[in-house]
Amino acid sequence: MKNLGWTVFAAALLGVGWWGWQWWGQPAPSPPVERPAEIAYICTETGELSRGPRQETPALNPRLGRATLVQALYCDRCRGWHRMPPAEARSQMPGGPVCQKTRAPLVETAPEGAPFEVAR
Ligand SMILES: [Zn+2]
Repeated sequence: MKNLGWTVFAAALLGVGWWGWQWWGQPAPSPPVERPAEIAYICTETGELSRGPRQETPALNPRLGRATLVQALYCDRCRGWHRMPPAEARSQMPGGPVCQKTRAPLVETAPEGAPFEVAR
């Protein structure tokens, strides 16, 4: 039964080799999408825009002392910032939040040179 041992050994070696080739042959996983540490917020009371570290919303507006800050998202078509759509509206946007006026996708980070003001 010496031959059987060699067959098993060879099969195992082949298996390891195949696994190793698969493993090395895979392209490196793409790096996770970089989420900006600082995001824009709109105050629901004053409509003022501000920036701050990412946190649960509504976040505390230090100027008012109340939790009035909701995330602001940039709309390239309106050239300005919108409030994050409410959760029930977002549930109908499987591709991510879109502008409720123009249906343009809303993004967290505005392109270079974009105005830092609320879209009207
Ligand atoms: Zn818009």
